[in-house]
Amino acid sequence: MTEKNIIEMKAVEKRYGSFRAASDIDLELKEGEFFSLLGPSGCGKTTVLRMIAGFQEPSRGSILIDGQDMAGVPANNRPTNMVFQSYAIFPHLNVANNVAYGLRGKVPKAEIDARVTEVLEMVELGGLHRRGANELSGGQRQRVALARALIMRPKVLLLDEPLSALDKKLREQMQFEMRNLQQSLGITFVMVTHDQYEAMTMSDRIGVMFDGRLMQIDTPATLYARPCNRAVASFIGEMNILPALLMEEGNSLLLIDAAGFGRMQIERNPNASGHARDILVGIRPEQLEIKAEKPADYPATVQGTVSNVAFYGENIHYHVAVDGIDTLMAVSVPNYFHTVDFNRGDAVWLGLQEASVIDLGKDK
Ligand code: ATP
Repeated sequence: MTEKNIIEMKAVEKRYGSFRAASDIDLELKEGEFFSLLGPSGCGKTTVLRMIAGFQEPSRGSILIDGQDMAGVPANNRPTNMVFQSYAIFPHLNVANNVAYGLRGKVPKAEIDARVTEVLEMVELGGLHRRGANELSGGQRQRVALARALIMRPKVLLLDEPLSALDKKLREQMQFEMRNLQQSLGITFVMVTHDQYEAMTMSDRIGVMFDGRLMQIDTPATLYARPCNRAVASFIGEMNILPALLMEEGNSLLLIDAAGFGRMQIERNPNASGHARDILVGIRPEQLEIKAEKPADYPATVQGTVSNVAFYGENIHYHVAVDGIDTLMAVSVPNYFHTVDFNRGDAVWLGLQEASVIDLGKDK
């Protein structure tokens, strides 16, 4: 990745009639970055991608690619290429002709042939030139679609749910392959997905969208550790969300009283709003300790009863009912010793460290 901005979106908005599909989109992407737009169905991810591609014009704001204002520049004159969810490959053409399609009539045949061979090697389809498109597996079709976009040598590759048609195992394999390919080529990838794991495993940074707005743009690690509000916290991984009372003490440290856990000092979320008293806090399931006896070295503890045990192989998930908390507390324990320590109905203690409490601000 370089320090150069390859894409700059400034105050971009897209309206369909009176409906705002995207609002206040401010985004700067670095050259060579793998960026994902993540959010639930209908939040406006594809709209943002299509505006970068030039398939749709913004209603307001500006989009610069490689320093050039894209207003009025048609899709085929932009330094971008798109890989569609459906792959959009031609079933009656063989692999080589599918991949060569965009170059036909633009460069000499000998160069096309050389570039087809080069790009098929890149996506690990070397030697499959003559194979018919309808004789390919799902993973191979996906690679053909990638090759077809990459042969155009775009500065930015746009990917709309590129892996969603593949089964789970193949999808995970392609996630690594695409990430490796992106890093070795150094091309900027912008990917739309509603799959948080896909976004987290592949991306340098993720923009989380809700209701047409980019709510938080951060690295996967920061999004997981410090989601800015309830919506982001619930969308990325599993999160226990509890109401708490917040009191200011000194300049930066606050005391909370999350239901049942007693008083603690926590770090302030810089994005959280002003002087609210009632806030929400988030606690990741793996940050809770579960013990038969009261854990000695935890500043905050509560008692509860195991209501559900789920075995996931690499870890074990417990749901624990705690007096005074409406929802069950989710606890995740790594399965180091291959034993399930607690069963439904067992009385347990939960322990919590102050640093594991995330301030999610007001319930908005
Ligand atoms: P998905 O994951 O389901 O594809 P998305 O986050 O990509 O969803 P968009 O396709 O960007 O969402 O759509 C955002 C909103 O804009 C949706 O409510 C959609 O119905 C609406 N929308 C999209 N295209 C148009 C259009 N051409 N005319 C009117 N409304 C549209």
